[in-house]
Amino acid sequence: MMSLKKVLFILLIPTIWFGACTPQVESFFYTQEQFASQVPESYDGKKTYRMRKAICRDQANYIPDTNRMAEFPMRYVRVNFHWMNTTDAAFSLENGKPFDEKKAIEYTEGFLHACNYDLIKNRKLWLPHNNDIPVLPINYRLVLSGRPDNPEDDGIYFHYDDELYYYVDRGKNSNQFDRKVFKKYAVQPDTVLNIFVLPHHPDSVASPTYPVNRVGIALGTYVKVSGIYGKKGSFWDYRGLINHEIGHVFSLMHTWKYNDGCDDTVRHPGDCYSPNSRPGCDTLTSNNMMDYGYLQHALSPCQIGKVHKTMSNYTSPKRKLLEPVWCQLKEDSTIVIRDSIDWKCDKDVEGHIIIEPDAQLTLHCRLAMPSGAKIVVKPGAKLILNDCWLHNDCGEEWQGIEIQQVRDKKGEVISRGNTIIENVANGGWVSG
Ligand SMILES: [Zn+2]
Repeated sequence: MMSLKKVLFILLIPTIWFGACTPQVESFFYTQEQFASQVPESYDGKKTYRMRKAICRDQANYIPDTNRMAEFPMRYVRVNFHWMNTTDAAFSLENGKPFDEKKAIEYTEGFLHACNYDLIKNRKLWLPHNNDIPVLPINYRLVLSGRPDNPEDDGIYFHYDDELYYYVDRGKNSNQFDRKVFKKYAVQPDTVLNIFVLPHHPDSVASPTYPVNRVGIALGTYVKVSGIYGKKGSFWDYRGLINHEIGHVFSLMHTWKYNDGCDDTVRHPGDCYSPNSRPGCDTLTSNNMMDYGYLQHALSPCQIGKVHKTMSNYTSPKRKLLEPVWCQLKEDSTIVIRDSIDWKCDKDVEGHIIIEPDAQLTLHCRLAMPSGAKIVVKPGAKLILNDCWLHNDCGEEWQGIEIQQVRDKKGEVISRGNTIIENVANGGWVSG
């Protein structure tokens, strides 16, 4: 029979073995006491957050870094389409055939596909000629969105209205800026970008001086487009127009006329629709989405940054047009920080944030954590809260900041300035 001593020895071996190789990781949450001890007395975080921080308003800080794309999550713009027509459906998408709603539904789905195709691809800018501006990913997509409580609603609507069906681009009867059609027919206007497809008015079309072009206008969170009814061609021919107007919604301006706020877009004569328009156009035609060239399919790094700055702006009504994908915690969207990085822009992330040993993350602006997510500061890692605002944007709680320690090596959290931490489940406080 084995002695008790021997049994104990056998049992102890694995314990000692594991104990030696995997030292116990202790973890605890950063608490209000720790936080308060580092915050100056004149604590007025959120109140002054928007006013103070110029770096959080710098569009350059929103330009995606292709080496760190996990830190620049995709954004989804909800859109719906309204097809306007007369009560007798006088306007058709196919010459010589009556208006067919099925065809319009196919067309709408085509728009989405073609617009997203250009957003996925982004292209090299043609201007300035022979430039070396990098082609960065355009990090947003369009999503057709019906009412969430109605499975029948596909986000495509038909309105037959003799008063409001038409678009007049110019002249004394121009109704470009008229919002009556929005007031009457908008669906979920606070959370979905409503796009109205209107025919040109027949009286305008009859005038020899009225250009029956593809045209559009962005008014706040709404878009009107015209020139689609009665034209030859497919939805591919209008993808530039729709992406252009949506670009306006998210703060982009035309590049050729005036300073659009971006140094990597160039002003140009604006009369080169294509390289063959006139002599000289071979090096002066723009393919920028925000110009009027025959291809509107490229955005510069600064333009992409500008769009994301608007999308991240907590106070902007445009932000509400996005699917709030940052509410639900996604385990596969964990962000791992392995080096030293400063986040100088507002961010809405979709997973946990893990700061690896010897890495450092400095937060300067607003950071929204998804419900149930946490920031893990591993032993030897550093999290610097520099005058920043951490919260959950969905009326729920995130877990908080977990500090890990192994033996005497500990994760470190340093708080500076008017940092505010809200909606935290662990760590003993729920509100800054
Ligand atoms: Zn425009």
